[in-house]
Amino acid sequence: MTYDNDNIFAKILRGEAPSFKVYEDDFSLAFMDVMPQVQGHTLVIPKDPTQDIFNADPIILGHTMETVQKVGAAVKEAFDVPGIMLAQLNGKAAGQTVFHLHFHILPRTDGVDLKMHAGGMADFAELELHAQRIKAALDS
Ligand code: 5GP
Repeated sequence: MTYDNDNIFAKILRGEAPSFKVYEDDFSLAFMDVMPQVQGHTLVIPKDPTQDIFNADPIILGHTMETVQKVGAAVKEAFDVPGIMLAQLNGKAAGQTVFHLHFHILPRTDGVDLKMHAGGMADFAELELHAQRIKAALDS
């Protein structure tokens, strides 16, 4: 399978589809998942057209992980949670639905279960507020 330039994250990167951005640098972008499994569910992607982890340039992967670390810490602070789960799926059989490499940042709290993967759209006003909270934590 070759990289599909029309996948939704490629469109977000080109500005052809909307997103609630929380962080961007030369190599990566972080934005809210529109179908969050938990409040604060954030995605980090490399800007490089990369289908999955096995097709990633190790240098780009390193930059992307730096962003995962930075944004993960900001999500933890913004949502005041004791734990952060990272998830990263490769291939349809593993549950990957968008074929541009991405890392899920999932706030975790004892007793709060994750909702179904890609279960339902969030309220956009709420996603905007959540993005603002994470950006404020990144700036603090
Ligand atoms: P995967 O199953 O590939 O690991 O995860 C894809 C993720 O992308 C899912 O959590 C899904 O909710 C999210 N997603 C799908 N379409 C969009 C979209 O248009 N915008 C954003 N921000 N997230 C999306």
